[in-house]
Amino acid sequence: MVPKAFGGEVAIGVFAYQGERAAADWSPVIRYLNQALPEHHFRLDQYDAAGLRQAIAGHQLDLVITNPGYYVSMEAAFGISRIATLDTKDDHPARALGSVVLARADQTKLHVLADLAGKRVAAVAPEAFGGYLVAAREMLNQGVDPESDLKEIQFVGLPMNRIIEAVQRGDVDAGIVRACLPEQLANQGKIRFEDFRVLSGRQDPDLSCALSTRLYPNWPIAVTRQTDPVLAKAVARALLSMPESDGMSWSVPADYQPVHDLFRELRIGPYTYLREITPEGLARRFWPWLLGLLAILMGWIVHTVRVEHQVHRRTAELRDSLAARDQAEAKMRTSQEQMEHLSRLSVLGELSGNLAHELNQPLTTIGTYARTVLRRQESGNLTPEAVTEASTEIAREAERAGGIVQRIRHFARKRQATRETINLAEIAEEARRLIVGMLARAPEVVIENRLTTRCKVLADGAQIQQVFLNLIKNAIDANRDLPIERQNLRIVIEPLENRAAVHVIDQGVGLDNEQLTHLFEPFFTTKPDGLGLGLPICKTIIEAHGGRLWAEPNQETPGMCFSFSLPCHELSA
Ligand code: ADP
Repeated sequence: MVPKAFGGEVAIGVFAYQGERAAADWSPVIRYLNQALPEHHFRLDQYDAAGLRQAIAGHQLDLVITNPGYYVSMEAAFGISRIATLDTKDDHPARALGSVVLARADQTKLHVLADLAGKRVAAVAPEAFGGYLVAAREMLNQGVDPESDLKEIQFVGLPMNRIIEAVQRGDVDAGIVRACLPEQLANQGKIRFEDFRVLSGRQDPDLSCALSTRLYPNWPIAVTRQTDPVLAKAVARALLSMPESDGMSWSVPADYQPVHDLFRELRIGPYTYLREITPEGLARRFWPWLLGLLAILMGWIVHTVRVEHQVHRRTAELRDSLAARDQAEAKMRTSQEQMEHLSRLSVLGELSGNLAHELNQPLTTIGTYARTVLRRQESGNLTPEAVTEASTEIAREAERAGGIVQRIRHFARKRQATRETINLAEIAEEARRLIVGMLARAPEVVIENRLTTRCKVLADGAQIQQVFLNLIKNAIDANRDLPIERQNLRIVIEPLENRAAVHVIDQGVGLDNEQLTHLFEPFFTTKPDGLGLGLPICKTIIEAHGGRLWAEPNQETPGMCFSFSLPCHELSA
């Protein structure tokens, strides 16, 4: 319908929810307008919510009279704009509408709206302003969400008397009706006010009825975007000067912000979008998914923490076991060094008798020369030549004794393992000298070196010397009681594949097969004063150098051949 400029029919749409506020209610207004503005013909059409919306959208209306809630929705959707607010007798136009929530007086546990959690409540309809929304806001403010926290909400429609009847019958625990209805029904003798209790009851100076909620502005009359401004102005002026008729008149447009606040808090009407995007709205809609996600997240966190914990624990265990291994190795090294040292001392101990004898020789010679010089001096025939000869001999013998002592000290010194290039022949020679120096009746020890300079042996010289000493001493022990010609020893040093091999060959008593199998076992000995540690220590030393120690009976002569091999580290061209 095309909006009118001036004159002609003016369509007024009235919101009439299921016949509430029937056309008759508004007839004084229509009558008045037709009188005040006779060039127009004002016509009243009633609509339900959907119909009114459709009529506004289809530009079929010039004026709209509706409740505050619906007005705010249409204002947001189609830009309708209030020009006056209804002023009913005894009310303040901006504070005229409220709701009352009633329970039966014998419901001893219901006093405030918060008590309604888990209860059954009756109301008019989900979109009814005074018949639901106004009370819903107060319930929400008291922590009870009417959409989810009630046991049941029954929307019973109009008339509101039905709600009060349902409460009275006990069909529901409480009912929401517009303020003043109970008083009206009581005045008409239809109910007894004292049979009911007003939940969260409050007083308001602007309204003399029982209330459970705050107050909202009265119904407005609004123009649409298409309404002619001249007509709008004329209607507004006429309404503001309308005399009270049937307790009804019009006042300047009230502030409808409280209605906006209500819609925003309930997230309905123009504020429905808040429901969609707020975390709370999302949470409410997607809680099973969120719960699932949360469970997965928790599971993931627990898993991560557990893995982290295990990694920590295993790392700590690994660190501990590595530390324990290092400690054990260090301990083993120390005991091996101690064992080697003991073994040297034991070799020395065994040789000490002969050593004393050996040292005795130069000391006796020194004593003899010294006494000769003294005697000659006493008898007066000490010649300078005799002094020179005696001094030279004394010095030489002292040097010999000193050499023996030094070699022993050097050998017996406690020391740590090293690696250096060694000369096997030189070490063999040193060992030979040490033994021969300590023995009164030493056999002949021949050293044959066939090794070329191409083989470089990296080893601990002192340890290798100890191996030589052990093998030589064992060989001497093995042929101690044999004729002198069988006591001689041979040490052969030769290349063997990429290695240097050393053979200590005697012609002694040898070993039977049974003894051969136990030869390298610790504490295996055939000597009354033997320890049985020499060969195991030699084996440990050689193997620690990456070499091998073995023993074979001689092929053609009696006696044994003890051999060891060591790797050649650098083969120079
Ligand atoms: P110990 O000399 O204290 O007995 P060893 O481990 O050095 O300890 O030697 C173990 C045993 O091996 C000796 O008791 C001896 O019976 C035997 N043995 C070692 N070398 C020879 C050898 N050259 N000829 C015969 N038997 C030997």
